[in-house]
Amino acid sequence: AVRVRFAPSPTGPLHIGGVRTALFNYLFAKKNNGVFYLRIEDTDQNRFVPGAEQYIFEALEWLGIAPSETVGKNEKFGPYRQSERKELYKQYADKLINSGWAYYAFDTAEALDFHRKQHEEQGKTFIYNWHNREKLDTSLVLSKEETDNRIAAGEAYVVRFKTPVNETLHLHDIIRGDISFETNLLDDKVLFKSDGMPTYHLANIVDDHLMETSHVIRGEEWLPSMPLHSLLYKAFNWEAPEFAHLPLILKPIGNGKLSKRDGDKLGFPVFPLEWKSEEGVSSGYRENGFFPEAVINFLALLGWNDGTDQELFSLEELVEKFDLNRVHKAGAKFDPDKNKWFNHQYLQKQSDESLAKAYAPLLTEKGITVENGKLVRIVSLIKERANFVSEFWEMSNFFFEAPTSYDEKAAKNWKEDTPRTMQELISVLENISDFTSVNIETVVKDWMTQNEIGMGKVMQPFRLSLVGALKGPHLFDIVELIGKEETIKRLQKAIV
Ligand code: GLU
Repeated sequence: AVRVRFAPSPTGPLHIGGVRTALFNYLFAKKNNGVFYLRIEDTDQNRFVPGAEQYIFEALEWLGIAPSETVGKNEKFGPYRQSERKELYKQYADKLINSGWAYYAFDTAEALDFHRKQHEEQGKTFIYNWHNREKLDTSLVLSKEETDNRIAAGEAYVVRFKTPVNETLHLHDIIRGDISFETNLLDDKVLFKSDGMPTYHLANIVDDHLMETSHVIRGEEWLPSMPLHSLLYKAFNWEAPEFAHLPLILKPIGNGKLSKRDGDKLGFPVFPLEWKSEEGVSSGYRENGFFPEAVINFLALLGWNDGTDQELFSLEELVEKFDLNRVHKAGAKFDPDKNKWFNHQYLQKQSDESLAKAYAPLLTEKGITVENGKLVRIVSLIKERANFVSEFWEMSNFFFEAPTSYDEKAAKNWKEDTPRTMQELISVLENISDFTSVNIETVVKDWMTQNEIGMGKVMQPFRLSLVGALKGPHLFDIVELIGKEETIKRLQKAIV
């Protein structure tokens, strides 16, 4: 059965790259009628950040890709927080020591520094493995008795993995295909520390096994850990899950991984929700008016497509079409404009009613009250050009208040005889009783034709008087919505 996981370390807000990992796991699970679970990898207490865990849950909830098992939810394989599984890991470290796959090491930080420096001076890199074992302070060179005594005396130690010598590992990654690694280049990584805490590597493998993980789908930055992880499965005599390493998400400009700095530079969110830290507040996609569906759709295409030109996918469609074999190897460039484009598309999909509902509080804030039916109509007229609800005010303020200034460039079309024409227009409007867009348009155009007045002579100054600029939707829709009295008032104001 397919069981996949998202295993974040709560060391800060969830980055958009993390969300993409969660999404691909979610899609893969749903597609295969499997389970998507979330495990909190918080064994590194130094990097614990309060609130980060709650943030992760909320973010996935908002995006509609919440896990079906996690802390406090269907805890079938719980606890799902590694700090609460602490007692469990020691026995696994011991197992590896007993089977000869791991050993105790007592090297101090100073001693390690010394070795590193010494290697550097000779132009070599220090690899903590069999190359150096005889010089190192480990149970591999000490007697059993001496090792036991030092541990009993409370000396600080770590448990290290004993990487095999001279082996080429032939591994398979669903996205990257066959990859080989030379064990001689691998460090004997620390698995467990005398403070009772496992490292990421040990806890991750033990839990992936105990929680019956079938596939490990994670970011490319974990690819270098793949040889160690597969060796750990071998050492435990456990069947390893399949691996799929997702391509990096790259900066919009230049090379390298997308970072929070790129977001700050662009004024663009790289987090799903607002995040408050000591350094300040970073507002996220939600606070910037993105629709969760748009964020999901955008992220799904960072490193994947369905083989056609289709770009708009609902979550259900993504589930149906998603295929790990179609995930690219190459990094995916993060394109903020494309992200906005997706939001634009999803904004068009919303009903006018729900957009009006989202817009209403912005108007209330400005002390403007407007009847709902009218607001729905206004929204229907302007939404076509909007990416965000927050742009509505800029696009529709003239429906609610008379312009206080006129666009200078547009005002150049205001000719000497314009006031007279506008005065005549006022009289025409005054006589219209059925004040609806279509009717007003018919009457005004008839008047223009009969009096041989050119379009440009009327329409531009008319719009300028009502809107203050040459922008906005169909003019006669505006006229109807602001009403006869207000239309005439604005025209009068413009001609004095
Ligand atoms: N805790 C790791 C992280 O923060 C998990 C990596 C993995 O998926 O194995 O990304």
